[in-house]
Amino acid sequence: MLTKLVLASHNAHKIEEVQAILSPLGITVIGATEAGLTDVEETGTAFEENALLKARAGYAQTGLPTLADDSGLCINALGGAPGLYSARFAQKHGGYPAVFNTVWEQMGDNPDRTAYFICCMALVTGPNSEHLFIGKMTGRIAPEASGTHLFGYDPIFIPDGYDVTCGVLDSDIKNKISHRAKALEKLLAYLKQS
Ligand code: IMP
Repeated sequence: MLTKLVLASHNAHKIEEVQAILSPLGITVIGATEAGLTDVEETGTAFEENALLKARAGYAQTGLPTLADDSGLCINALGGAPGLYSARFAQKHGGYPAVFNTVWEQMGDNPDRTAYFICCMALVTGPNSEHLFIGKMTGRIAPEASGTHLFGYDPIFIPDGYDVTCGVLDSDIKNKISHRAKALEKLLAYLKQS
């Protein structure tokens, strides 16, 4: 049974979230800084590839089971863009909220406003032991930005089943329905039965 897991991320919020979910299984989560991981360039052309690149590197550097994730916003009218380039796309277009205007401009008056967030988690526990857990949150791009939760594209994304953006939605609700939550649920189910 696994007792220690490296999470290849420097994001304190993500480390806390994963630790809270894995604590009941007696698993201690060690963040990238604490584990002394060197950053890996995200050169993959798919979410799975980037998550695996980071998890494999963490495992190679520490010899410990390593979890890594890659996520992004895919807009159907834009052929799935910005996708795995979501962070770089925002940077290139002036950051948040400036990039929201780029999104609306590129979508024009396309009637298809559907989009989804995807989170791909890779768990590497050995040279031949790699597992992927994928979660999605489907929804649509809002005609205007709203809300005070200013993480990434949250202010312009309305999840299915709701009529407000993730910028407005209570974080407890978002943390239950999010792409990350769904990927983590699958990871948890896997760890429970392994
Ligand atoms: P990361 O792989 O989790 O670092 O996410 C990459 C990028 O995708 C972020 O910088 C955001 O632009 C976008 N993103 C991922 N998840 C979310 C979310 O839950 N809300 C808003 N933006 C997100």
